[in-house]
Amino acid sequence: MSCQRVRLLIESTKMAYPCRVCSQECTMKQESIQCDGRSMWLHQHCIHTSLTAYAEFSLTEHFNFFCLQCSTNRPTDGTYNFLVSLARIAARASDVASVRQQAEVERNLLSFYSVSLPPVCVLSVGDVMIDNMSVVFHYSPWILQQFVSATLSADGDCFFRTVSLALHGTENAHAQLLHLLSVIEALLCPTLCDSSSPDYYAPYQANDALILSDLSSYIFDLVQDGCYCDMLTVLVCTAVV
Ligand SMILES: [Zn+2]
Ligand SMILES: [Zn+2]
Repeated sequence: MSCQRVRLLIESTKMAYPCRVCSQECTMKQESIQCDGRSMWLHQHCIHTSLTAYAEFSLTEHFNFFCLQCSTNRPTDGTYNFLVSLARIAARASDVASVRQQAEVERNLLSFYSVSLPPVCVLSVGDVMIDNMSVVFHYSPWILQQFVSATLSADGDCFFRTVSLALHGTENAHAQLLHLLSVIEALLCPTLCDSSSPDYYAPYQANDALILSDLSSYIFDLVQDGCYCDMLTVLVCTAVV
């Protein structure tokens, strides 16, 4: 190791709060923020954000901050890690007040990193892969007259994959974002899903044959990767697309 490298190493170990981006000290005079993922500090100017957006994290007590390294799929493709966001919400699913706060945190982070659904695109039949439809053709041919069939990855997340493919032309990341946005919608605009709301489970309330879950149980199921999606989730998802 060269003398220069040793000197730099000694200097860096002297720093109390080295910035994770530029490796320089975050001093008391500089606007800096601590990542709740790795407990490391980052200069406000190093995360390329406005003072207003930066201030949101200090003005709202429960707003956690997660740096880019902790929020994205690295070292792979660098895309936003929606599954980590879902997992953070899932970890609090047993406490409605706490899980709502986490939904606010995740919504704020999506806004902070400017993560949103891409524009809607129009698919043609030639854009989708279609497996053998002989069973559907035999038993319910009318479906094939009304809809375009498509083959999706069989990982249990078929509802969000279907909506993602139909609206955005791809399945993976957009399906995960749709899933995360639907969870946030159910938690922060819960008129359909909250038993204390007069619109709870509308329009299914009148059906005595349905066993309706409370908000806590519904969210606990909804946050799971590969969750089962009923008509309530279809309604929630329509609010975010
Ligand atoms: Zn820095
Ligand atoms: Zn971090």
